[in-house]
Amino acid sequence: MAILKVARLGHPVLRKRASEVSAEEIVSADTRRLMQDMIETLVEYDGVGLAAPQVHCSKRIALVAFDESNPRHAVGEAQPLTFFFNPVVHVLDATKAGYWEGCLSVPGLRGYVERPSRVRVDYLDAGAKPRSLEADGFLATVLQHEFDHLDGTLYVDRLADPSRFAFIEEFARYHGAPTQDAPD
Ligand code: ZN
Repeated sequence: MAILKVARLGHPVLRKRASEVSAEEIVSADTRRLMQDMIETLVEYDGVGLAAPQVHCSKRIALVAFDESNPRHAVGEAQPLTFFFNPVVHVLDATKAGYWEGCLSVPGLRGYVERPSRVRVDYLDAGAKPRSLEADGFLATVLQHEFDHLDGTLYVDRLADPSRFAFIEEFARYHGAPTQDAPD
């Protein structure tokens, strides 16, 4: 088990399209080790999600986990620790929902992003079984943020308004309460 180094904005691994993972690969010992390390890394950095490319592994794997008690993400929602392999997002409601997002790969900053408000995700679980998850609210935004990483897209590419992009201190002072911010 290890806390992994997180790739930051500018590292090419964050801009590559990550590759699909086979069922054999999902249940392999190497992937079990990566999953454990991703969990440790997410906890260490107090994030709500982490995609494998953020830890220098260009594969279509992402992890999401948050609970109501995290004051940084006090949105009254929780998502138990879930791994998504080869996730595909289907928009169920294109009406936009806006959140202030952050990213472990873009530390110290927050930006306001609008995304479709309701989605369904088809994916393989940690046992390589096909699953679907419908999400709205905060979870819908977190999922779309994480899965964007698998296509080399960062939230900074999706800023609705470049003037709503701020360092965390200035965000807290001028743009809203810390409880309004979102993703990892
Ligand atoms: Zn991110």
